Amino acid sequence: MSNSTVLNALSTPPRIWPEPDGEFVPRSPSAEEQAFIELHNQRLEGASPEEILTWAVETYYPRFTMATGLGPEGCVIISMLAKIEPRVYVFNLDTGYQFAETLELRERIAEKYGIVIDLQRPLQSVHDYEKSHGGPVYVHSPDQCCFDRKIRVLQRVAPHFDAWATGIRRDQSVTRANTPIVRWDKKFGLVKVSPLAAWTKKQVWQRIVEESVPYNPLHDQGYPSIGCQPCTRPVVAGQDERAGRWSGFAKTECGLHTGD
Ligand code: SF4
Repeated sequence: MSNSTVLNALSTPPRIWPEPDGEFVPRSPSAEEQAFIELHNQRLEGASPEEILTWAVETYYPRFTMATGLGPEGCVIISMLAKIEPRVYVFNLDTGYQFAETLELRERIAEKYGIVIDLQRPLQSVHDYEKSHGGPVYVHSPDQCCFDRKIRVLQRVAPHFDAWATGIRRDQSVTRANTPIVRWDKKFGLVKVSPLAAWTKKQVWQRIVEESVPYNPLHDQGYPSIGCQPCTRPVVAGQDERAGRWSGFAKTECGLHTGD
């Protein structure tokens, strides 16, 4: 992809879907669909991430999508999708509070792979959101802030797809230790595919180095896990890699990967 094509694509307005009327009601799987998921979850245990992604693309594309916070895992999955099916719709939940380095990484991904990550934003700007709540909500109620600026956005996207890929890994934290390869995500009414579930952090970084996959420079500055700027701090050696997220709160997940 030429630079001007990439810049044009990056400036394309995001796909905007309306919020669901009333409360979001996720779809439920049929018994047949659930059995299909369980069968392939067992079958794909031990498969490579590329084999898992290829199955997901063959089974669900074009109603297969990927959400990424542009962490190392997401960038590695994008590098794989570039070879398997670069037309998969990839999006980022752009809360308005992300690091500039994260948004700049999106441009480097587009230049390298020709995959333009769509920015899915809340309907309310940061300015209006903070004005209507008397200031930044993350200061006192990060659960509500994550719900308003991430979960509700995914609820707008989810009904337009059948399956989504995530970059979560079992060794990232205790809350992710039992992540299946394929499962039903009852929170969003989608099949959830985690091609890197069985990979270690070392394997992810090995791939980044081997294939010069673009990554966030903040990882070299003590940030193993990067979310929104106000809710992310560097960690010290030996700490859980997600220990720098929502420091000072009991919160360890934004809610996208819990309760499903
Ligand atoms: S990570 Fe922090 S700033 Fe981002 S949506 Fe959640 S609470 Fe808000």
